[in-house]
Amino acid sequence: MCRHLAVVGPEAPLGESVLAPPHSLFRQSWAPRRQLHGTVNADGFGVGWYAAGDPVPARYRRAGPIWADGSFLDLARVVRTGALLASVRDATVADPDGEAAAAPFTAGPWLFSHNGAVVGWPDTAAPLAALLPPGALLRLAARCDSAFVWALVEHRLREGEAMGQALAGTVRALADAAPGSRLNFLLTDGTAIAATAWGDTLWHLTGPDGRTAVASEPYDDDPRWVEVPDRTLLTATPTDITLHTLKEPCL
Ligand code: GLN
Repeated sequence: MCRHLAVVGPEAPLGESVLAPPHSLFRQSWAPRRQLHGTVNADGFGVGWYAAGDPVPARYRRAGPIWADGSFLDLARVVRTGALLASVRDATVADPDGEAAAAPFTAGPWLFSHNGAVVGWPDTAAPLAALLPPGALLRLAARCDSAFVWALVEHRLREGEAMGQALAGTVRALADAAPGSRLNFLLTDGTAIAATAWGDTLWHLTGPDGRTAVASEPYDDDPRWVEVPDRTLLTATPTDITLHTLKEPCL
């Protein structure tokens, strides 16, 4: 399955967290260390980031592996940001949607990624389509499960739910409709991060540089990386991490 990463904190080049660390997302695309499902993350990649003073993120996505894109290496060296969300994809089911199916998905100020799979997609998810506004299915960014998951999350955000609440509500709905699904979500609005651990690995790091990273797996061997227990909702700012269990209906 995919690997993903979100970072908030002082401005730095994209490449500092996405490419430079010894076990960065770049390296995780062919040599992840903690991936529980799948092997190589070569079915597309994407990075979304925020420029100072602009609440709407920019994205750079491609259908192929991150290691085959020399232009991204250049871009990542010079583009600076205080918040980003990046992913490398291992498609659950082969699809022809190319970069449209590569996270991050976006709307307004948000960037979203899903690491996992909805069991029985698309049939198991069909009843949940009734939760969406008319036309939402026709506007899905791609035909993969993750684009549908994003539509569910986006709808809750637009209804006014906080980021953590929107992720927790979506995990519960999908876990009921499609038991056994793996639902590790990552969401940011450029100032904070919300994430779920539900079936795959999740870690966080707050370094001395005032930057918080939330990732499928550590990008280096810094001893401050902390593993998030399964069935957990995490919310993070550059300085604070909060964990809630998703086992009880606490949100
Ligand atoms: N199911 C999603 C997809 O196909 C996510 C895959 C993953 O986590 N590897 O894109």
